[in-house]
Amino acid sequence: MEKLIFDYSSEGKIGVSLPTKSAEEKAIKEYVPESLLRKSDLNLPEVSEPEVVRHFTNLSNMNHHIDKGFYPLGSCTMKYNPKINDKIAGLPGFANIHPLQPEKTIQGALELMYDLEKMLCAITGMHSVTLQPAAGSHGELTGVMVMKKYHESKGEQRKYILIPDSAHGTNPSSAYSANFKTIALKSNERGCIDINDLEEKMTEEVAGLMITNPNTLGLFEEEVEQIVDIVHKYDGIVYMDGANLNALLGITCPGDMGFDITHINLHKTFSTPHGGGGPGSGPIAVVEKLSKFLPVPRILKDGSNFKLSSDYPESVGKVLGLYGNFGVMVRAYVYITMLGLEGLQMVSRNAILNANYLRVKLADKFEVPYNRVCMHEFVASGDNHRQLGIKTLDIAKRLLDFGVHAPTIYFPLIVKEAIMIEPTETENKQALDEFIEVMGKIDKEAHENPERLHQAPFTTPVRRLEELKANKDLNVCWGK
Ligand SMILES: *Cc1c(COP(=O)(O)O)cnc(C)c1O
Repeated sequence: MEKLIFDYSSEGKIGVSLPTKSAEEKAIKEYVPESLLRKSDLNLPEVSEPEVVRHFTNLSNMNHHIDKGFYPLGSCTMKYNPKINDKIAGLPGFANIHPLQPEKTIQGALELMYDLEKMLCAITGMHSVTLQPAAGSHGELTGVMVMKKYHESKGEQRKYILIPDSAHGTNPSSAYSANFKTIALKSNERGCIDINDLEEKMTEEVAGLMITNPNTLGLFEEEVEQIVDIVHKYDGIVYMDGANLNALLGITCPGDMGFDITHINLHKTFSTPHGGGGPGSGPIAVVEKLSKFLPVPRILKDGSNFKLSSDYPESVGKVLGLYGNFGVMVRAYVYITMLGLEGLQMVSRNAILNANYLRVKLADKFEVPYNRVCMHEFVASGDNHRQLGIKTLDIAKRLLDFGVHAPTIYFPLIVKEAIMIEPTETENKQALDEFIEVMGKIDKEAHENPERLHQAPFTTPVRRLEELKANKDLNVCWGK
């Protein structure tokens, strides 16, 4: 177990050298009123540079991360992020600018954002993009606000949004946050939207439909064109949760399928390290008739100059303080430019191939309820292990001992004991085979020694946590 950094501290140790002073030294009191100055010293650890580096390196290894091992967390696209992205995002010209600088001094940054918007238009088959939302769910909220504005611009107050029962949890919460009521749509026996149910529930009071495609079972919505037509017949808006765009790059796009709005998770599909609650980016792309409702400011090109404009009276306004999380945009720009169209197509093709390889190889030991060709992920079930007294949670916990992050579990809700696996394209066959082998070992253990599985994990810094307590009674203090 790694010690606290305070335990390395001893007086006088130092990790940085400050430049020798070149100006006359003045007392802090000459600048800051005495009442605002602290009365006692800050309790900071005094440590050397190697101690700091080792401490944080050791800490980082106590947790799982994509640079450490396989991370098949379904719906999250935990793929390897090329380090060149970080390197370029850290260049001084990108990292040291400020959003409130005069436009003429940040032309390069505006050009990058403008070009990224255009690339995302091409990738989604849409007319306009805003880069402002800070996460996928934030993009959803922005999209639903655009939906609302659209209906209001026609003098209508629509009340409901339709959401399939397989939807990602953020979809109903975004609809609710924008003051809509949600109506659930049933899935059919193939795991797709039940068209009859949609026909029954679609009315002129429904603002729109939000669907994830491929859906959370990793399946392509087979009747997507029909679905879109039904909603459009009532002038509803069809929203595609595009967080799973990793499955579609260069193969098809929301625009071609007839969607009106989609969000893109730059941090998932376009490779920014994520998962620790760090900055994300959830741009939304819309068709032409919705363009005027997008958040301001918008980036415009005027000859060879780029400028920001808030002159959009019908805009939903601002959804973030400034312009979005620029560092994530730089990474996405680098990633897309580096791969090009062919490279992006390879991403999705390999993501699909990898998921299907695992699906087929695992299906003899782990039930796959909707077992047919999937997109970038699939959902297995631990239900056939229940009779051995083993839950999906036990399987997930045991995986940690083998240096594998657990898949997403108990989601989507329509699969019992769900195990949602997304290998991503950045794993090779060897890594996939190792995972298959580990899953085989766990299955064997479930039959031979179920008691042991209940106690897993054995090798992690902490064992089974009381998850409810950890959430409700969070204690992150070091106790001093
Ligand atoms: C990840 C995800 C979201 C939410 O994205 P965040 O950036 O985490 O807010 C929404 N829908 C689906 C299908 C997702 O996989």
